[in-house]
This record gives sequence, C-alpha cells and structure tokens, in this order.
Amino acid sequence: MNCTDFFNLRDKMEEECGVFGVYSKDITKVAQLTYYGLYSLQHRGQESAGISVSNFGEIVTYKGMGLAADVFNEKILENLVGNAAIGHVRYATTGGCKIENAQPLESRYKYGQIAVAHNGNLTNAKVIRELLEDGGSTFSTTLDSEVIIKLIARKATKDVEEAIRSAIGAIKGAYALVMLADNKLIGVRDPYGIRPLCLGQSECGAYILASESCAIESLGGKFIRDILPGEMVIIDENGVESIKYSENNKKAPCSFEHIYFARPDSVIDGLNVYESRVEAGKLLARQKKIDADIVIGVPDSGIPAAIGYSKESGIPYGIGLVKNKYIGRTFIKPTQELREKAVMVKLNPLKVNIEGKRVVIIDDSLVRGTTSKILIEIVRRAGAKEVHFLSASPAVKYSCYFGIDTAHRNELIASRLSVEEIRKEINADTLDFLSLENMYKSLKGCEYCVGCFNGVYPVDTPTDE
Ligand code: AMP
Repeated sequence: MNCTDFFNLRDKMEEECGVFGVYSKDITKVAQLTYYGLYSLQHRGQESAGISVSNFGEIVTYKGMGLAADVFNEKILENLVGNAAIGHVRYATTGGCKIENAQPLESRYKYGQIAVAHNGNLTNAKVIRELLEDGGSTFSTTLDSEVIIKLIARKATKDVEEAIRSAIGAIKGAYALVMLADNKLIGVRDPYGIRPLCLGQSECGAYILASESCAIESLGGKFIRDILPGEMVIIDENGVESIKYSENNKKAPCSFEHIYFARPDSVIDGLNVYESRVEAGKLLARQKKIDADIVIGVPDSGIPAAIGYSKESGIPYGIGLVKNKYIGRTFIKPTQELREKAVMVKLNPLKVNIEGKRVVIIDDSLVRGTTSKILIEIVRRAGAKEVHFLSASPAVKYSCYFGIDTAHRNELIASRLSVEEIRKEINADTLDFLSLENMYKSLKGCEYCVGCFNGVYPVDTPTDE
C-alpha cells in the first residue's frame, strides 16, 4: 500500500495543515510555545511536525515524521534558542508523504535566511514550477510551498516584504503562510481568506499567528483578530504592521473548516465553530422531521449538530458511539473488510442507548459514503429498530482544490448517486443532507467557499485536473 492509500484510509484523515508563529523582542522559550501551539493544532495534521527558530535572523529548523509529541522532546526544544519561531503540522494534500516534504521549509537567499510554513493548495504551482525549472531552478521537494520560497528568493532585495509581496502576486489559490525572515515574523492570508489565520498575544506579550484561535487560547494567550483576506502582517520589535496587498474585496473562507476541520473551541472569522455546528443541527431538525427515540452524533464533529437537532426537535440526545481516543495512526490494508474493521475499532456503539430504539445518527458530512454505511450497520447490529442518517452539510459533489482532501470526484458518492440511491446504498431508513441555504444560515451569511457542494470556486481551478 502506498502512502496515499494509507492516509486515505486511516481514521478518516482528521486533518489538514496547521501553522503557528511567535515573535518576541527578547530570547524567550519560543520553541516551547510553538510546540504547544502545534500540539493544539494537531487535529489539522498528523503526518509531520516541524519548528524553525530565528535567533535575531539566524534560522535553525528541526522537523520529523509523526505527531509533534513524537518529533520533539525537551532537549530538542531547549536547543532551539531564539526570539521568533514558526511551526507546522502537516497533512499531505500535495506532495508525497516523506521527510523532505515536512515543513517549515528553510532556505538561504542573497540577504539572509528565510523559513516558510504553508497551509493550503496553490492552483498554479505546477505552471510556476515549470517556469522556474526552465529558468534553471532546482527543487528538492514536491511542495507548493517550495515554489513560494523560490519566488521570494528570486525577487530578493534588502526589503524582504517587497520580495514577499511580489511572490504572492504571482501565486493563486489558498494559502495561510507564516514566515521568518530578516528577524521578522510575517503572516499572509490569501486574497479570499480561504484558509484561516489569526493573530494573538501570549501572556508575556509575544505576538502569535495561528491557523486557529484555540492554539492561542490553549497557551493562555489572548486572541486579537483574524488576519483579513488579502492581508500581510509584519511583526518585529516595532509591533504589528498590516499591509493590504490585494485589491480583491470578495471573501470566500472555506465552509468545511466550520463543518469538519476546525476545533469546536475555535472562532474563525468571527464565527464560533461550535455554535455554527449546533445551528446546522437545529436547521436540519426544521428541515427534516423524524419520529425517533434518540439522536446520536458521530464523534467528534457530528456531535454539536446532534445536540442542535435534539434541542430543536425535542428528541433526546444521547451518546451512541464511543470513540477510541488512541486510534491515531492505525495501519490498515485497503480492503473493504479492513476498512470496516478500522471504523469499528475507532467507533464502538453504546448498546444500552441504542437497543430497541429508533435512532437518528448525525454526522458532519458524507463524502465517500463508506463511514456512514459501516456506522449504520454497527448501530443496527447493536439492536436499533430504525436508523435515520442525516448529514449536517450538503452533499459533497465536487473536489476541493484548496487543501481539503475531499477525494476525487468519481469517489464522491453524491456525484454518482441520487439521495434515494445513496440511502439504499448505505442502508438507512431515512437520509437527508442540510440544504445549501440552511448551511449559509448556520454560517450567518454566504461569503464562503462552497465549491465542494456546488462546484463554484472563488479561484480558477487547475486545468490539468
Ligand atoms: P465517508 O463518507 O466514508 O467518506 O466519510 C465521511 C466521514 O469522514 C465523516 O465522518 C466526516 O467527519 C469525515 N470527513 C469529512 N471530510 C473529510 C475529509 N476531507 N477528509 C477526511 N475525512 C473527512
């Protein structure tokens, strides 16, 4: 089995990349802060973890395969001394799963060193890479991020901000970047704000950049604000400088962050992730009334929606599936039988709450349809009289090109089958999906990227897909 198969199968890939950065005026424990920041963002990527530390411009990087806790220990962190740091946890959507592709990426350019950590996918990376290669550039990774670092190095003048501006002017797609260069911490969010990035401050006054606010608050820090779409922030001993580098005024943050990826204790673009999930559940209850005895949620991201459904419908909420918290990286073979075992090892039914009952199961989404089919089977075996399955997001019909691994279009069950056909396929008594309209309501507006639901993307998608 190759690396992609493995990651496609294990634990339903509960991740995408997470980035973190910290800047202090003095030498402080920036590596330790970054480590704990990555720890809080671990749900966004479990394949590799890395930290670059800048000691007033001199950069050192340490990275490895696995979880942050596998890669780092106290001694390694103590040796990473400096006043600023960036960190990255990776889930591969572009580039293979190998150590060369772990981030941050570090490079030496004409005026010093630069380190970059990137969350998101570029849609024109291939074209730029070819142009750079034609011009003699060589690449040591298959990452989009290396294209960014090469573009910055090529444009390098003494003014690193100008070089970064020029590089991001050439790239298209989704990116939340944190960078170290010239004794500065720099953060950039793409013009549509597809991937999240926010600013905060630690208890000791150091500035923090993070993919999600939960990483700032877990450190005892305070959340200041989201980085705006098309904004670059430069943090140094003078504080935070903000530059609006893009004229674009249309926002399109990824709706899937709220639906599935982000932690419920994060607030993204002013919207509390937990609340938006509960609201989705409430709207689902108004949309689809079912006579049932219990509502259960699929851990973890289906639970707030199940609570919302219960509140609105009056059907009692209960725990119906118990998640094994230590499942992490189960190595499994890609056969249907073992796929089923993997779900069963991860989620076990709580028979006492299910037996003899009419059960509503709510999950955040239905992508390939494999998990729902197995879960329904598990819940039926535990003695449920009826099993009604609801998705707290619309049917995923299109691929994502911006960093969410929603599989290729032909693997997406809703791109092949109608709702009724899917219901039969997964053996549910009822099946329904939250409507797009209701999803917009749960997100308090329609300024989101919903390309995976309706095929309309904010940025041109690659033509060679
Ligand atoms: P399936 O329909 O078998 O592909 O699985 C849907 C399940 O995968 C749901 O429980 C979601 O929580 C989870 N999920 C949703 N989106 C993704 C994604 N991009 N990558 C991995 N798992 C996902």
